[in-house]
Amino acid sequence: MFRHSKSIITKLRNLSFQGSWRSRGSSAVERALQFTEGQRIHGFTVKEVTAVPDLFLTAVKLTHDATGAQYLHGARDDSNNLFSVQFRTTPMDSTGVPHILEHIVLCGSQRFPCRDPFFKMLNRSLSTFMNAFTASDYTMYPFSTQNAKDFQNLLSVYLDAVFFPCLRELDFWQEGWRLEHETPTDPSSRLVFKGVVFNEMKGVFSDNEQIYAQHLQNKLLPDHTYSVVSGGEPLAITDLTWIQLKHFHATHYHPSNARFFTYGDLPLEQHLKQIEEEALSKFERTEPNTAVPPQTQWDKPRADHVTCSPDTLAPDPTKQNTLCVSYLLGDITDTFEAFTLNLLSSLMISGPNSPFYKALIEAKFGSDFSSSVGFDGSTRRASFTIGLQGMAQDDIEQVKHIIAQTIDDIIETGFEEERIEALLHKIEIQIKHQSTSFGLALTSYIASCWNHDGDPVQLLKISERVSRFRKCLKENPRYLQEKVQHYFKDNTHRLTLSMSPDERFLEKQAEAEEQKLQWKIKNLTEVDHKDIYEKGLQLLADQSTTQDASCLPALKVSDIEPTIPYTPVQLDTSGGVPVQYCEQPTNGMVYFRAMCNFNSLPEDLKIYIPLFCSVITKLGCGKLNYRQQAQRIELKTGGMSVSPQVIPDIDDLDLYEQGIFLTSSCLERNLPDMFQLWSDLFNSPHFNNEERLRVLVLMSAQELSNGISYSGHMYAMTRAARSLTPTADLQEMLGGMDQVKFMKRIAELTDLTSVLRKLPRIKRHLFNPETMRCAVNASPQNMSHVAGEVESFIGNIAANRKERKPVRPTVVERSLDPQAGSAASRKLISEPHFKPCQMKTYFQLPFPVNFVSECVRTVPFSHADYASLCILGSMMTDKFLHGEIREKGGAYGGGARMGGGGLFSFYSFSDPNSTKTLSAFRGGVEWVRAGKFTQQDIDEAKLSVFSAVDAPVAPSDKGLGHFLNGITDEMKQRHRERLFAVTDKNLIDVAGRYLGIGQQTCGVAILGPENETLRKDPSWVVK
Ligand SMILES: [Zn+2]
Repeated sequence: MFRHSKSIITKLRNLSFQGSWRSRGSSAVERALQFTEGQRIHGFTVKEVTAVPDLFLTAVKLTHDATGAQYLHGARDDSNNLFSVQFRTTPMDSTGVPHILEHIVLCGSQRFPCRDPFFKMLNRSLSTFMNAFTASDYTMYPFSTQNAKDFQNLLSVYLDAVFFPCLRELDFWQEGWRLEHETPTDPSSRLVFKGVVFNEMKGVFSDNEQIYAQHLQNKLLPDHTYSVVSGGEPLAITDLTWIQLKHFHATHYHPSNARFFTYGDLPLEQHLKQIEEEALSKFERTEPNTAVPPQTQWDKPRADHVTCSPDTLAPDPTKQNTLCVSYLLGDITDTFEAFTLNLLSSLMISGPNSPFYKALIEAKFGSDFSSSVGFDGSTRRASFTIGLQGMAQDDIEQVKHIIAQTIDDIIETGFEEERIEALLHKIEIQIKHQSTSFGLALTSYIASCWNHDGDPVQLLKISERVSRFRKCLKENPRYLQEKVQHYFKDNTHRLTLSMSPDERFLEKQAEAEEQKLQWKIKNLTEVDHKDIYEKGLQLLADQSTTQDASCLPALKVSDIEPTIPYTPVQLDTSGGVPVQYCEQPTNGMVYFRAMCNFNSLPEDLKIYIPLFCSVITKLGCGKLNYRQQAQRIELKTGGMSVSPQVIPDIDDLDLYEQGIFLTSSCLERNLPDMFQLWSDLFNSPHFNNEERLRVLVLMSAQELSNGISYSGHMYAMTRAARSLTPTADLQEMLGGMDQVKFMKRIAELTDLTSVLRKLPRIKRHLFNPETMRCAVNASPQNMSHVAGEVESFIGNIAANRKERKPVRPTVVERSLDPQAGSAASRKLISEPHFKPCQMKTYFQLPFPVNFVSECVRTVPFSHADYASLCILGSMMTDKFLHGEIREKGGAYGGGARMGGGGLFSFYSFSDPNSTKTLSAFRGGVEWVRAGKFTQQDIDEAKLSVFSAVDAPVAPSDKGLGHFLNGITDEMKQRHRERLFAVTDKNLIDVAGRYLGIGQQTCGVAILGPENETLRKDPSWVVK
């Protein structure tokens, strides 16, 4: 269950405007078909060559002769090549040894002995993805890149990291855990626990859903490795020793326990040669003994109870119980059975037509399904979980009864044929949709099954399984019902787990930590004390020295493509509505989007926009009630959704576009059906079902409340920015802490009729051809058909056309195609009198860690300094803030970035510090102003920025930046040239001009635990 990611740091850094999707001809798939079984290549033997036409790839399976390492290559004409290596890591305690090891192998290796080569490679490469995961029973290291030289560079670093890491004791203290003086330089300050993973896991277990999911797995599979926390239980982490860690590495990170996966259009031979030469040739075969034995079946069901901390943002404070029943299923290496059970799980719980949705969600016993609900194939034996969160204590018995009853009902009545068809249609769409991270999706998809020696190639043959599934259904109409009987009704291996809040939960946790700390301190000798102090100083000194990273391979700025490939789009109007057409190889899919501004919407209704968006496609429309509508959407489309959009102008910080964004996709044959659904939504949405609205409101409020603990830094950034630009102010209202609190209030209302009455009013202002523009991505051969359908759709909704006055007086029009002087335009709102002001806000929340942000108002996208600020954010993050906030401060992460709305933002997450991190932000600015960086630092920052700017864009999303932001390819190219041109002088200059104290207006926000200092400081607004 536990999976975590470092990539969030990379993703946060930049706004991605454009990518390059190159095709190198269509030969990779065919080339790979030339390999033959038994062929020997660079120490490997080919075991199997299989064409997988469903996924347009050729799978080549190999084994390494000397060590038995397993290898799978997916040859596909996709330039976004991927590598991953995974080890079966099956810990038998909760010290987090696989997780801490995952961190430490990335801290330096024999060939690359500099500190933290992993982070350093982020800016010496054009990688599209770099990461490391610790799952329950394996640890995986994947990367992807579009550049062949970069692939080799990264492969060298990854191989050396996992097979020949330094595993220094110093890194163990930094990344794992240590006892240290609160102020390392002051031996009289108290001793505390520190360490990156220690804090990270405290952060993870501040999330009640994580606590529940962890217990559920531990208790359902108590026999072996699944009974412990692979990520580490914070206090158990402090039992781990450096020696144990090294031993775990020696036994688990061995080729005989490894599975390699490569994907893309680069030649396989080259990969094999490099892996053999740089790693595998130095090993001999071992018996890793890491297999997970099958869990023995219980002869009777079990029940258990756990506690969590109360959620102050819960929609109803008296309803905070979770209850689920979890069933142990079959072995995931039986791929067809697992496929069937996964489908069965969807039929049972997905959407308003599923039996459990009807029985549990609509009966309103809880706010939503528990996030553990559904099929889980991440353990050797799969499981299925059903149950609710947000329940009253008194309803628990009733809910248990309903779960049992619903299973009986399913066995009795089965599923409607149309629902099964809808599900199979969804699989067809998933196969056709071209994603940019296909390699990554594949490696995640096969990881668990392969980890237990299942056949990964079998797993790729999706159509084959669909046909076999259809055949089973045809031969036995009760096929699925019999499965339900067997796996649920008659299954004695099931666990009923409840969770309730305990007022003293955090207090008890803190007490337990204090006890453990005191116990450790009590056992320290005089020599230990001296040692701790000296180690603390040594670590600090080590962290403070600038390290020579020249041993690492690197791309050069000259390796970056100087120009972007242009994406031609065509602009037209249909029934007076501007439409952008973008021809792309979409594989028979059609993508339709629309933007509708809400400039005429009365101010008091604005805060309801997110609620409107989340319910509008789920209340029914035209002749369809909400159940039929949901069915229709599943059966005919790849999804239809609506979301709020606030888009900053590229020239003026006090100008923005406000609207809602409609997105949808379908197979070309279903286009008329999809547009019929949109027409019905525009012309006759249903707003009469208060019960249905209540269900949806509760689910939204719960989802928002749950989201804060893992995206706290986003909430902190949004809040810090609110008083700086009108765009940011509106973004806070629609997607920040204000919105979370608003939804909580709505969810608490006993009568929702007043809310229900607002929805048709909002609809009249939004679903109006007058406010709309559309975008279509489709294959060239389908385009004229699509254009015809768009035209008739716009004809169908013409009656909604009504010119309404904007509420704010100043509307500024921006042409959609400035070069062609097109009349079609976007209508932006100008607030020339907006006064940015300083504001510091502190939200006290039930978390053990902080999320800290500071934002500064700077310049918009088109300004000459914008590019310098982008490079500045990247350089400051990697060369200064990472060291201060993560390495020294012990936070999970932190950095700075330039945002499209002209705001320069600093942030930290899962951070034990609050105001100290604010000082680190300031320190970053001073560091730049003092010019303490090199040309190499600037070049690395450029590589890092470009790897985000040039991230691949899927055919479905090409041209969208132009459609939404009005940023043309010429503007992108100009921005690109400015990025290339940034110099050291520019960086010092912008750091002083925009980020120096008192230069520009800034805002600050902290989300975190009880904090005396902030509470007493009158300059802070406490929420
Ligand atoms: Zn981690």
